[in-house]
Amino acid sequence: MDFPRQSTLIVPLAILVTFSSFVLSLAERQKTQDIFSEITTDPSARSSFATDFGNLSKSTPGAVFYPSSPNDIATLIRYSYKSPKPFTISQRGAGHSTYGQTFVPDGILIDMSSLGRNNADCRITVTNGPIPYVDAGGEQPWITVLNATLKYGLTPRIFTDYLYATVGGSLSNAGISGRAFVHGPQISNVYELDVITGTGKTVTCSREVEPDLFYAALGGLGQFGVITRARIALEPAQKRARWVRLFYTDVELLMRDQEKLISMDDSSAVFDFVEGEIVFSVPQVQVIRGGYDFSDSDIAKITKLVTETNGPVYLIDAVAYYDDLTAPLLDQNIHLLLEELHYISGFEFSVDMPLLNFLNRLYYLQLQQTPLGLCTTAGSVLIFPMNRTKWDDKMSAVTPNEEVFYVVSLLWSAVANDTKTLVDLNNQVFNICENYNLGCKKYLPHFTNQEDWKKQFGNKWTTFVSRKKKYDPKALLSPGQKIFTPLELN
Ligand SMILES: Cc1cc2nc3c(=O)[nH]c(=O)nc-3n(C[C@H](O)[C@H](O)[C@H](O)COP(=O)(O)OP(=O)(O)OC[C@H]3O[C@@H](n4cnc5c(N)ncnc54)[C@H](O)[C@@H]3O)c2cc1C
Repeated sequence: MDFPRQSTLIVPLAILVTFSSFVLSLAERQKTQDIFSEITTDPSARSSFATDFGNLSKSTPGAVFYPSSPNDIATLIRYSYKSPKPFTISQRGAGHSTYGQTFVPDGILIDMSSLGRNNADCRITVTNGPIPYVDAGGEQPWITVLNATLKYGLTPRIFTDYLYATVGGSLSNAGISGRAFVHGPQISNVYELDVITGTGKTVTCSREVEPDLFYAALGGLGQFGVITRARIALEPAQKRARWVRLFYTDVELLMRDQEKLISMDDSSAVFDFVEGEIVFSVPQVQVIRGGYDFSDSDIAKITKLVTETNGPVYLIDAVAYYDDLTAPLLDQNIHLLLEELHYISGFEFSVDMPLLNFLNRLYYLQLQQTPLGLCTTAGSVLIFPMNRTKWDDKMSAVTPNEEVFYVVSLLWSAVANDTKTLVDLNNQVFNICENYNLGCKKYLPHFTNQEDWKKQFGNKWTTFVSRKKKYDPKALLSPGQKIFTPLELN
């Protein structure tokens, strides 16, 4: 797309040039003109979106669009779709992707956050009935949704570990954390969506109404439309969190215990959140310390364990959410359950904190200047045990074909100019899984050719392609995922 390079809000030339060359109704013309003032080719605006959280590559969008309403987004997409010279469009949430998934060098980047900029309150509505839910704009960060629902004593059932991704961004993947074993990923906890498809049509969808688009969009990597609203299930918010950490040197025992914890039924379950972590080296002990408040003597003890162990050390993070009603039995219940587990005796630790502090623990970690737990060359490796029955196979998200599977997050941080080494390491891990036919899938996937995408989606690929043809037939949306070549679908 050829945009004039000016430093003020301007009308993209290519849009003006093609404006008269195809038929738009008068009303549609007016709407299109109205959004021109929200598009800029200003170099500094464009360059502020030229990278993402991964900081592995750079690509400047052709222009940036700051919509003031979902209708503006629909108008832009319709315009491109109907134009003889369609352009690609990328909806960007908080940009927490790592491989340029929101890049759109030849098209327009939608800065989703501008939807809530002046009226964030209007974009979040809590309904506190027998089945409580929150309607949240797709651009809203989860932390904002949490704060809004807490005012009603309610909370979404599951968050990602980091609360600053947007609703639309995490629902486009799955949204997982140590809580997913109870309720499934975030996508399993959505009742309804507003989606603007690749033809510019706004559709309200759910399991009952337009279910195909609903299932497509959840885990859909931004391929089928822009999520502008999600109706998310809520539950009563507990007040406090008891965070227990148990150390292991035997991975099989760790897995046995994790699987026990995630298979307990509601009546016997003690923990609401179960995650794991691998500690390879002494510097990582400082990383796991962040947000938890180990005492110096505990840290010395763990450091000694890591130094003396010939191989990695593992830990389980198990967290019980509780309030005044459940507090009296908490200690006893935890004590009885720990007796059945196989951690190293003397290596169980426990802290107590307000639930909000636990949910927002990575923020506090940041405040301690430990960037998201990724501050050493080693970084963090997290292990999330999952119950597949809590995932809905009709949705676009893919999982391994096992009843219990693990999400292993390799969260390296390149602080020693060693980006390539770390990326190669991740690729090696993936290749080993492939070579041993472990049936693994990538979460937050990144591939550069369609053959690999086909493999990733497996038996869901045909459905994924046919949904793409149906909802974004010119492949205009989210081209940074590199799944489809724009305009060549049909
Ligand atoms: C520090 C950190 C911690 C993380 N922890 C977790 C975790 O615990 N669990 C987990 O599941 N994930 C985690 N993630 C991954 C994160 O959830 C995803 O990268 C998510 O996509 C980021 O959301 P975003 O708003 O930044 O999306 P972006 O990076 O802006 O966009 C990601 C993709 O979604 C599309 N998209 C964005 N908004 C919309 C929308 N409204 N409608 C349709 N498509 C849209 C984009 O086009 C793009 O393809 C973490 C990421 C970081 C950086």
